[in-house]
Amino acid sequence: MIDLDFDRRYIWHPYTSMKNPLPVFPVAGASGVRLQLEDGRELVDGMSSWWAAIHGYNHPVLNSAASQQLERMSHVMFGGLTHEPAVRLARQLVEMTPDSLDRVFFSDSGSVAVEIAIKMAVQYWEALSRPGKKRMLALRCGYHGDTFGAMSVSDPMTGMHSLFRGAIQEQFFAPAPRCRYGEPCTEEDIAPLAGLLEKHHDELAAVIVEPVVQGAGGMRFYSADWLVRLRELCTAYGVLLIFDEIATGFGRTGKLFAMEHAGVVPDILTVGKALTGGYMSLAATLASGEVADAISSGEPGVFMHGPTFMANPLATAVASASLGLLHSSSWQNSVQRIEAGLLRGLEPCHSIEGVVDVRVLGAIGVVELDRPVNMAAIQKEFVKRGVWVRPFGRLVYLMPPFIIDEGDLDLLTAALGEVVALEGVKG
Ligand SMILES: *Cc1c(COP(=O)(O)O)cnc(C)c1O
Repeated sequence: MIDLDFDRRYIWHPYTSMKNPLPVFPVAGASGVRLQLEDGRELVDGMSSWWAAIHGYNHPVLNSAASQQLERMSHVMFGGLTHEPAVRLARQLVEMTPDSLDRVFFSDSGSVAVEIAIKMAVQYWEALSRPGKKRMLALRCGYHGDTFGAMSVSDPMTGMHSLFRGAIQEQFFAPAPRCRYGEPCTEEDIAPLAGLLEKHHDELAAVIVEPVVQGAGGMRFYSADWLVRLRELCTAYGVLLIFDEIATGFGRTGKLFAMEHAGVVPDILTVGKALTGGYMSLAATLASGEVADAISSGEPGVFMHGPTFMANPLATAVASASLGLLHSSSWQNSVQRIEAGLLRGLEPCHSIEGVVDVRVLGAIGVVELDRPVNMAAIQKEFVKRGVWVRPFGRLVYLMPPFIIDEGDLDLLTAALGEVVALEGVKG
């Protein structure tokens, strides 16, 4: 049995107190779309372990890729050495992303991939003898990770900027786009961003956004047109554009990458989360040849980053297998089917007291409440109904593995509707 008392006393979980931690549920295994709790109960997974497990758990193809690579080598340093899984994965990433994004930097987590993107942007302008361009412009309601650089471009409120004032770089923030997904972008919608770029472009290295879907900062879906305008403005003002597709990449929004909704291409792209199908921690930052060449032509002539576990062979081998699996599957159909199921299943939530919005895009379904949930209470109610859903704040949302079938999806949406209708779960 897992020693829950030890866990409670000595182990930090994400965003938790060490004095008064909320209960955690012991998991003994996971297979397909189900998590098996230690007491034998099974939960249908509505979270894909935070966007990552798109093929479900314990997948034979990914298991075999991991064990085959394990037999050869689980790790070797990437300084001065290279290996087949890294080369194969980089080739796949270059092929599946827009033509201009063809230089790949591997790292170990999404936050680090964002740090790398920011460093690339700064080094780019430094190399072009524009050292004044060091700041970032980001969006309110954005989320880019928990390390310092990533935190500096995440929403100032949820990113806890006041808590860390003085310790994090101050960046510029534009309001989150008001035009919703599927709507056009008006002059009024783009004006605040345009104004900031006009005023500060001489100080700005890059604009960083999550295209179309703002994830952990608010689960907002915004107009693809807005991104078209953003691209035009960045080009006009000479500011690099970074797309953070760590959450949206690899099919989640119904396109392979969310930027495809707008048909625009950034100068730098970050991917992570679903990259390994949720098997292990791996991320990548892709840059255009122009960015890479400029960095390499300036002082000191190299890009200044190199993590210990860069391009870890085990992780790159599994990621390569996961991308292969995605390509050989009919993921578009699966995501469309999930989108239809979420629309149908979450529709009744509109009429529940306290629900202010219900929105669905691709394999993402969001029910927004008028007040934050009571986490301990709501978690228990979901588990009681045999599903795993992890809300945050006022948002209760589903993003199941792509392999989920109709029956399990109905189970998830029905449980969500039942639970948000309960009185005790709303804080
Ligand atoms: C999760 C996330 C990150 C951070 O990734 P980690 O692997 O948790 O460090 C960055 N950007 C976006 C959009 C994310 O969703």
